[in-house]
Amino acid sequence: MSLEIVTPKMRGFISLSAHPGGLKNLVNNQVSRTPIINDGKVNNALILGSSMGYGLASSIVSLFGFQANTLGVCFERPPQKNKTGSAGWYNSGELIQIAQENNLSFEVYNGDAFNELTKNTVIDHLKSNYGKIDLLVYSLAAPRRIDNKSDKVWNSTLKPLNKPAFIKNINLQNHSFEEIEVQHASDDEVLSTIKVMGGEDWQLWIDILKENNLLSDNFKTVAFSYIGPEVTEKIYRTGTIGKAKENLEATASTINADLRSSLLHSEARVSINKAIVTQASSAIPGVPLYMSMLFQLMKANETHEDALDQIIRLFIDKKFHTPETVVDEHGLIRLDDYELEDKIQDEIKNRWQMLTENNYLSLIDLEQYKQDFNQIFGFSVDGIDYTNQVETDPRYSIMDVGE
Ligand code: NAD
Repeated sequence: MSLEIVTPKMRGFISLSAHPGGLKNLVNNQVSRTPIINDGKVNNALILGSSMGYGLASSIVSLFGFQANTLGVCFERPPQKNKTGSAGWYNSGELIQIAQENNLSFEVYNGDAFNELTKNTVIDHLKSNYGKIDLLVYSLAAPRRIDNKSDKVWNSTLKPLNKPAFIKNINLQNHSFEEIEVQHASDDEVLSTIKVMGGEDWQLWIDILKENNLLSDNFKTVAFSYIGPEVTEKIYRTGTIGKAKENLEATASTINADLRSSLLHSEARVSINKAIVTQASSAIPGVPLYMSMLFQLMKANETHEDALDQIIRLFIDKKFHTPETVVDEHGLIRLDDYELEDKIQDEIKNRWQMLTENNYLSLIDLEQYKQDFNQIFGFSVDGIDYTNQVETDPRYSIMDVGE
């Protein structure tokens, strides 16, 4: 037993601590909002990046929407002496328990999804316990990728291309408004970002699953991307991460061409999702400021959504589990439709150019952003008394790669 009072230990866009009780409530809340999804069946699903943000929501929808046997892979920190586990550790453990209580099967491997050992471990486990899979969700957001053969490390960077950019931003340490200059990326940094956040690893997963005859006839796979507005364009869509996302989007076509020769009804798609507050999105300069403005406007417009709402819409509105997936003229699933509505983006542009250190608080909903951000780590959750001790090392059955 490890009973402790857990307090936030924020360092910019991460927290060094996470609150298991708060995270449990939030996972339960997502579970309770998930509808049963009919007309189409998912029996076995593999979710890469299953512990946080879009991957966690995908795991929940796979389990409670489809009642699919679901295997997750994530890269999280278990509790250590004097240190809580990471938020995704608790999300994973709690979801395993909630699934069990509902007679559903959720298993999780904690390990580096880029690594061959992880891939081989997952393949062996699928062969012995699952059989063919119908759905693979690729939802990794990683700062780096290590090539296990050469030990080469590729780092993902968030920089503009060609010339430096001035970015309006909230300093997440003290919540002040600032305009920062971000230097442009070198060619090497662009290539490294593509290695980490582009489509190569998604393709490797598909290849190894296919080689091992683990894809069902109606196999579907989706990876997530983002386009976003003009005001974040220099750092996002036309920056290093945008190049990686272009590569990811192109990979869907390669995978489709590859799969369809043997699996006629298979489908690989990229879904362009809405901006949501996650650990990954909070690290992008300017994006927390943009989200603080966006969410206020989308709430007033009654179109605001969180990760779970988006993943439910991926299946129910965009019909991704059926042969009639709804896509745009480029073959992309568009879950960013409400975010990019003209009336929302016109108002964003208008407010964005007015932003100064004196007026920024009147143009954004900073308190909502702070709450969303704290909740990534299980803080600021209704119904939790943070002065109480909580068990920080519950006996979860999360599996280690290589065990
Ligand atoms: P997140 O930070 O909430 O979660 C990242 C997940 O990846 C976690 O489960 C983590 O454990 C896992 N992970 C990281 N490195 C790993 C590794 N080496 N091996 C195994 N697992 C690893 O991220 P998110 O914001 O949900 O992003 C998921 C995807 O959605 C990304 O491709 C992102 O670009 C995309 N997306 C995000 C947003 C947004 O606003 N957050 C919008 C559109 C698209």
